[in-house]
Amino acid sequence: MSAYADRLEALAAEAADRCTGCGKCFEVCPTAREIGLDAGEAKQRVAELSALTEGGGKAADGLQKWLNACDGSARCSDACPEGINVRQWVTIAKLKSLEAARPREEGAANAADRFRHMAQAVRLLASMQLPSETLKKILAPAEKRTAEVLFYTGCNVLRTPHIVLNVMDILDAMELDFDVVGGTAHCCGVYQFQEADLPTYERMGHRTFQRFGQSGAAKVLTWCPTCTKNFGELEKDVEEPSFDLGHISEFLAANLETLKTRFVGQQPKRRVVIHEHLGIGATLGSIRKLLGAVPNLELIELPQDSGFSYACGGQAAKFKDREAAIHRALAEGAVAAGADTIVTMYHSCHRALAGAEAAYPLKVVNFTDVIAEALGRGGHPDYYRLYKAGGSMDEAVAAARTFLQSNGVQVDEASVQSLTADIFNETGLPGSREAFRDAFTALARER
Ligand code: SF4
Ligand code: SF4
Repeated sequence: MSAYADRLEALAAEAADRCTGCGKCFEVCPTAREIGLDAGEAKQRVAELSALTEGGGKAADGLQKWLNACDGSARCSDACPEGINVRQWVTIAKLKSLEAARPREEGAANAADRFRHMAQAVRLLASMQLPSETLKKILAPAEKRTAEVLFYTGCNVLRTPHIVLNVMDILDAMELDFDVVGGTAHCCGVYQFQEADLPTYERMGHRTFQRFGQSGAAKVLTWCPTCTKNFGELEKDVEEPSFDLGHISEFLAANLETLKTRFVGQQPKRRVVIHEHLGIGATLGSIRKLLGAVPNLELIELPQDSGFSYACGGQAAKFKDREAAIHRALAEGAVAAGADTIVTMYHSCHRALAGAEAAYPLKVVNFTDVIAEALGRGGHPDYYRLYKAGGSMDEAVAAARTFLQSNGVQVDEASVQSLTADIFNETGLPGSREAFRDAFTALARER
């Protein structure tokens, strides 16, 4: 067993030691309820969790169902009177039970498939929306960077790269010495961890984290909620890094007074609803604070299911109906409350809600769009929103033609088909699959 695997075991053992077995974590678990597990059996489920941690082997049936249902919401950690990070404990327990239940090679093959699929989609979408000099800047090796601050994008936000450009604009406006780093060569290793392929995880996510340290950066600002969660719970808690780690929204909120002095001109009048998620540090509170400081922006509070998952998609995608209901209720609630804009917190939520403009009298923007605009920057086209909105794809296709050429990437009809499935099979509000597929198939046929 590697030193890293030993540390994970120690973290789980420490949780089991401190646990009093009260069952509150299981009682509040939204996904356990979603699959029909009885809150009245909470003490039994937690006893099984402790037994698995202490004795190893396969999880008991009831526990296995709980582990499989977990989407990382962190409601359990918030409810624990002992302050145990139950989400982390459950994550490690799930890894252990998978290790006992099947050969590692099976998980490794699943993880490799999932990674390959994601990497292809990210590479293509980024090449369709970003010039090559920006993409090269993001993809350059982390350990060779020299700035005090590293803005770490993760992989999947490169499907909606205007968000990355916004953050770069905001950090520029703050006159900060920063480097931006991300892409699949700096993956957080989430698939390998989820599929219990720990040796490959150590060469990916664990290695990415070490490379941040090798760069000498004093601060690493994360974007992706999954990377933030994984690096916080599966790396920072395993070994204290030489740098400070935190989500970009928390950093911006902590520097709000500096930002406010740089807000420019008249901002548009907006009535805004945030699409909320709990579960990733103080991100929601930070985004509220940031938006609340933007002139002419009125924040409308809407009761919503913010505790069901820490972000849209990912592990929450196994509850497609529930996610779809959350998206519908949000858009309908926003319209009924007189809002004109939905503000998304993360990229996966942005992708899920981007099609709302086609069906509701609402604009959909990310919080970074609003802050960059308040600073007199931003304004980067959100091509993904155009893909999802349906209608004419002329602007998106023209941009893609130029960017693909700049990146030396060609699309063929098979990759357009796979990308269409990737974009439109995600849970989210409607757009037109045909409009995107037909326009980009025509682009692929151009030679
Ligand atoms: S993280 Fe959320 S979904 Fe997972 S066990 Fe805890 S409460 Fe349940
Ligand atoms: S809430 Fe905390 S102390 Fe209670 S059973 Fe869960 S982990 Fe143990």
